[in-house]
Amino acid sequence: MNYVDVFLKAINGTINWTWRSITFDVPWYNNYFWGLILISLVVWILEIVFPWRKEQSIFRRDFWLDAFYMFFNFFIFAIVISGFYKVFEVLFSEVGITMTSLSLLDISHWPKWGQLMIFFVLLDFVQWFTHVLLHRFDLLWRFHKVHHSVKEMGFAAHLRYHWMENVLYKPLKVFAVMVLGGFAPEQAFIVHFTAIAIGHLNHANIKLTYGPLKYIFNNPVMHLYHHAYALPKNRRYGVNFGISLSLWDYLFKTNYIPEAGGKIKLGYHDDDKMPHSFFKQLYYGFKKGD
Ligand SMILES: [Zn+2]
Ligand SMILES: [Zn+2]
Repeated sequence: MNYVDVFLKAINGTINWTWRSITFDVPWYNNYFWGLILISLVVWILEIVFPWRKEQSIFRRDFWLDAFYMFFNFFIFAIVISGFYKVFEVLFSEVGITMTSLSLLDISHWPKWGQLMIFFVLLDFVQWFTHVLLHRFDLLWRFHKVHHSVKEMGFAAHLRYHWMENVLYKPLKVFAVMVLGGFAPEQAFIVHFTAIAIGHLNHANIKLTYGPLKYIFNNPVMHLYHHAYALPKNRRYGVNFGISLSLWDYLFKTNYIPEAGGKIKLGYHDDDKMPHSFFKQLYYGFKKGD
């Protein structure tokens, strides 16, 4: 089969899967389309009933832009990129690299809960590390600025990010699965849905810290400081890089929560240069000076 066929077949498969999700033709636990909508509605209702910043509008600034980003990054972009990923998979397998090439840890005989835990923790760690890199290197930061251009925080801001981030996060995520010998637990959907829910909550206008569990789980108070306009002098590359887990920030001393009033200025120093339209943001980040 030639690469064009591989490409088109993968894209076709993803379109079919997305359509079958919309029409409830896939198992409910693998239905990310309606799952994402359900989690969004639940977190939005929580924001409306228990708002942290009471003066913030229910339809806050850029609400619809962020709502569109959710579907774009999760479904529309996923369709396009699936073809490229499949071609890469074939190219790598032709030079002898497959998902089973690097089995460092065999968890296939572990109890189910242990498999899910290790899968969750490992994937979260590589994403934390990728996130640190996005802040550390200017070339990557240019794309990550889109996520940090949020000026009023609410749940949907979770998925406002440049499509290049999907691409940049991918290699380390694949590496993590390769470490497990290409093994993803049967119930991996639990991990994915948990990560979506925690990510939505991290950006929500709700004051939640989970008590002593704040040292393990990322939360809205901690993540609001990740988006702070003013960074402490000795942390110019950022603080609180956690995705689902705050644990890494506490371990690597990148944690920073000076107070919990929730009313800090968000953004970054030249965020007024960020275009407001989705289409302009699509092309943002590729040229020097962005
Ligand atoms: Zn960031
Ligand atoms: Zn964020």
